[in-house]
Amino acid sequence: MSTDAEEASEDRRKYEFRKVLEELEEFEGSGTQLVTIYIPEDRQISDVVAHVTQEHSEAANIKSKQTRTNVQDALTSIKDRLRYYDTYPPENGMVIFSGAIDSGGGQTEMITRTLESPPDPVESFRYHCDSDFLIEPLEHMMADSGLFGLIVLDRREANVGWLKGKRVEPVKSASSLVPGKQRKGGQSAQRFARLRLEAIDNFYQEVAEMADDLMVPKRHELDGILVGGPSPTKDEFLDGDYLHHELQDKVLGKFDVAYTDESGLYDLVDAGQEALADQELVEDKEQMEEFFENLHTGNEATYGLVPTRENLIMGSVDRLLLSEDLTEDVVVYECPNGHTEYETVERRHNTPDHECSECGEPAEVQEREDVVDHLMEIADQRGTETKFISTDFEKGEQLLNAFGGIAGILRYETGV
Ligand SMILES: [Zn+2]
Repeated sequence: MSTDAEEASEDRRKYEFRKVLEELEEFEGSGTQLVTIYIPEDRQISDVVAHVTQEHSEAANIKSKQTRTNVQDALTSIKDRLRYYDTYPPENGMVIFSGAIDSGGGQTEMITRTLESPPDPVESFRYHCDSDFLIEPLEHMMADSGLFGLIVLDRREANVGWLKGKRVEPVKSASSLVPGKQRKGGQSAQRFARLRLEAIDNFYQEVAEMADDLMVPKRHELDGILVGGPSPTKDEFLDGDYLHHELQDKVLGKFDVAYTDESGLYDLVDAGQEALADQELVEDKEQMEEFFENLHTGNEATYGLVPTRENLIMGSVDRLLLSEDLTEDVVVYECPNGHTEYETVERRHNTPDHECSECGEPAEVQEREDVVDHLMEIADQRGTETKFISTDFEKGEQLLNAFGGIAGILRYETGV
């Protein structure tokens, strides 16, 4: 699989996650009866089953008969889900939500949702039973999931590590034998200076090797590298091209940080915040620039549900641009005279009545599904790439608000 395809499927997975989270956020249980379980990837499934079984028997002490039944039903449903897994959960772990939710009119409905392989690893096992589902840890992961390399150094010490999403991960450190500025008696000043420069050069090489070992294998996933330290160390290090050239190209900036121990990695992330945020949006910005340019100059652009859909079916769309914050379904209507029409409806709203715009007859609902699923299925069939666009910049916000969150960059002008 190419990197682009991997990126697209990761975007897709994030979209699915957001959708489930948004759904779960809405739910409330009457009483403490919604169960959430976070399972790290190294936790044995049999351990989790044992824990759930234990909770099930403890739930027998719940006084309210209805709450007791609901909690026990939720736990049984979770155990059923766990049967699908062998020894361990999938990579990065998983989260299971289950409970009886208020479905209006005094009715309750049992729902169970499983989210596998979140963007960041589930860090610890959590069992949570409350009147709402525990979604904050997942929301936190969704906020940001880039991978950045971190290097801090001065002439005595260096640390390298990762920024994964919002998490700083120190990995390796080195310390140098560079002598201080004071020379010992009897040594010639010239010889001392030469030895000192040699020692500094050796240390820079050692730091670069340490960073190369860590980051070169990940260079295709890497969103960028930040380098920090006092002046002029970090400048000498970068200007001297010590790093592998592919890493050197990924450096987003150099930043002043006072410490070069592990805490320096955290300071570096704070100092480089703006560069990091910009980098995350670079690709999205480029896509939107291209869309607007095509729209204004050559008509090789499309937007809105119906025209974009038609272009997709024709195979004329090079890239489908969907807003990350789309929350709509597409409804397919058909009238008695066989006219088919498509409209978008907010995901949480009921399906409205519809009159055929061609003949005025009342139309029936043929189908209702997530608009992203609907369009991406056509795009996949036609070999069209899908890009999800953030709303964290002006033109991304415009895609959502002025173009309904749906647009396309065309391969050629179609007049649709
Ligand atoms: Zn009609």
